[in-house]
Amino acid sequence: MADPGERFWLNGAFTDEQNARIPVLDRGVLFGDALYETVRYYGNRPFLTDRHFDRLFQNAEALRFPVRYDRAELQAVVTGLIERGSHKDGLIYLQWTRGAAPRGLVPGLGLLPNVFAFRSRLTTVPRRFRKEGAPVITLPDLRWHRTEIKTTNLMGSVLSRQEAAAENAYEALLYRGSGKRARMTEGTSTSLFLAIDGRLVTPRVRELLPGITREVVLELGRESGMVVEERRVSREELFLADEIFLTATSIEILPVSSIDGRRPRVEPPGPVTGSLSDDFAKFRRNSLAAD
Ligand code: PLP
Repeated sequence: MADPGERFWLNGAFTDEQNARIPVLDRGVLFGDALYETVRYYGNRPFLTDRHFDRLFQNAEALRFPVRYDRAELQAVVTGLIERGSHKDGLIYLQWTRGAAPRGLVPGLGLLPNVFAFRSRLTTVPRRFRKEGAPVITLPDLRWHRTEIKTTNLMGSVLSRQEAAAENAYEALLYRGSGKRARMTEGTSTSLFLAIDGRLVTPRVRELLPGITREVVLELGRESGMVVEERRVSREELFLADEIFLTATSIEILPVSSIDGRRPRVEPPGPVTGSLSDDFAKFRRNSLAAD
């Protein structure tokens, strides 16, 4: 069903798609010199916005982006787009570019960022994947080193997802290094978790995006008394894990049914995935009620 109402916001005004236009010389267009965040909302309430904005503003500082709108203003954009929509659940995508300037790698001073956001419905994960798990493949991580920055410069991820789609896989899990030294980082748009003998294991944050869902899942795991390990995870370990699951804003927690065609040891969703999914749903309900 269509979602009428102003679905876009650009540089201070709510608008529609026809009028949401940015200049060709915008550095986001030319170089992918832009940041983004995706905030999910449930029952018209945005979820974990503080954590999303913490990450956005930390990244903006790291890239020395000029600030055009402060946190409160962007927070109001998120709620404004939700209020204008006719669906209670969905996603708000927000992008902050460095601004437009004559083409050249050196950013120069005094740029005015282009900032825009839009509301969209969630692309739902097939119910079969939720119940039985989703197939994934492993691929070399082609991305740059600064993976902690959520930039729109996503060519490595695009190529990997293209390859995954060609193999009917839901996601590509990425690794760095080769042979026995290959270590897992994350999925192209998801964080990676393993359950091994009841322990919750995930690659250390050094080489990946500090996912917000990942952070919550780690907190919930610790609170429930699980042994939690953030450490180097070899590619070989993937094939020995009892359970594997992915996390992201758009999917919450999603079990994996096969890796490169091999099944995890426990039929998905296993007990660790199941109990963390229940805890996550409870956490979401409580935090939406408290806001
Ligand atoms: N890892 C990467 C590379 C991502 O792009 C994303 C989300 O887009 C995630 C992990 C999951 O992060 P979050 O839980 O904050 O949505």
